[in-house]
Amino acid sequence: MEKFDVIVIGGGVIGSSVAFHLAALGAGSVLLIERDLVGSGTTSQSSGILRTHYSVRENVELARRSWDVFNRFAEYLDDDEASCGLVKCGYLISAADDDKLEPLRASLKQQESQGVRLEYLDRAQATRLLPIASFDDAALIGFEPDAGFADAYMVATSFAKGARRRGVKVKEGVTVNRLVLEGGRVVGVSTTAGDFACDTVVSTQNIWTPELAAWVSHAMPVVPERHAVLALECAEAPYTFDMPVFKDLSSPGMLYCRSYGGRQMLVSEGLVGEKLSNSQTEQGDIPLDYVAEVGAQVATRFPAYETAGLASSWTGVYDVTPDWNPVLGRLPGVQGLVMGYGFSGHGFKLSPTVGRVLAQEALGMTPDVSLQPYSIARFDTGALLVGKYGSGAVS
Ligand SMILES: Cc1cc2nc3c(=O)[nH]c(=O)nc-3n(C[C@H](O)[C@H](O)[C@H](O)COP(=O)(O)OP(=O)(O)OC[C@H]3O[C@@H](n4cnc5c(N)ncnc54)[C@H](O)[C@@H]3O)c2cc1C
Repeated sequence: MEKFDVIVIGGGVIGSSVAFHLAALGAGSVLLIERDLVGSGTTSQSSGILRTHYSVRENVELARRSWDVFNRFAEYLDDDEASCGLVKCGYLISAADDDKLEPLRASLKQQESQGVRLEYLDRAQATRLLPIASFDDAALIGFEPDAGFADAYMVATSFAKGARRRGVKVKEGVTVNRLVLEGGRVVGVSTTAGDFACDTVVSTQNIWTPELAAWVSHAMPVVPERHAVLALECAEAPYTFDMPVFKDLSSPGMLYCRSYGGRQMLVSEGLVGEKLSNSQTEQGDIPLDYVAEVGAQVATRFPAYETAGLASSWTGVYDVTPDWNPVLGRLPGVQGLVMGYGFSGHGFKLSPTVGRVLAQEALGMTPDVSLQPYSIARFDTGALLVGKYGSGAVS
């Protein structure tokens, strides 16, 4: 039986980052197994927004370190051809004088204390950055210049290419059916392409984590949640690449929006989505009533969008944990198993650092950032990573 030092299950942006970092950190033999194609899971559905704005301090640190990677992606991968498709347009976030005002104030203050470059804008300054929006109700506006959006599929495939170039074996079209366990430790995986031995497994299976939970008979709280994304076209008020990503905390749906293709607006709600009874990424229905409801929210903030048309729409699925934050680290009771799942709609912006710290954990090194707050044990101890904005992907 072929033997590897580490096997990674799942070739999304997280698993491919883990595989890259394992090789970069000098792991021996590494195998990445992906059921379909690298990046074809929920990664391909990402809106790609990169920000360090979080209300949970630990997430700010993961995002800040990750931004540094996105910002010098080709150099980091030591590959002149690598691109993450970065549009460095900044991130604007505003709250009205309502229940989101103090959480925003506290989160901005916390970010600043962590060394994030931030600007506080008045309404006129915000209008200069995003002239298609109206900020009449804004009581507090923060702007993060070192932010924007990128392409999650490009990042996943670039990390996978970087991993391959450093000797990682990548098997696509192969499904892991179970872990092979001996006396409470992982000794391999059983797959549709045969069995492979290993000392350590890193599972980055996202909404398919319940498979892992069944293999090791251990509860792993995670729910697949479907979210709709719309692209709107408004000829009089194009959302251009130089306009920042915008988070509208005062809209009923806590909307986020950004430029799409340099002209259209990509918009989605930042609230709880449709809970699915099984793990699947198939497209769901987006009723016209829903489009009208989101369109009305958009028009309140972007008056010219009153007459906007729907250019396209799609759905994507989040792997949501009880506190909307990921589980990172080892599973107590099963030696040799490291997990990274439950990114709850905000994992892309964390993917470079998460890949590195999970690889460090798998190799027995001290992770750059403590994984303790992200431990699965928090769901038993109650030490949850609850965000100040309530349930949702701002976290
Ligand atoms: C609509 C939408 C918008 C989003 N917007 C943003 C955003 O703006 N910014 C942001 O930071 N994040 C965003 N996210 C979240 C981010 O995209 C995800 O957190 C991230 O892509 C998840 O990557 P992953 O590797 O965990 O999962 P996936 O990409 O789903 O990868 C998991 C992989 O594991 C494979 N797999 C599972 N089980 C097995 C098995 N048994 N054998 C073999 N392979 C297996 C699957 O085939 C899959 O490819 C968004 C997500 C969605 C859905």
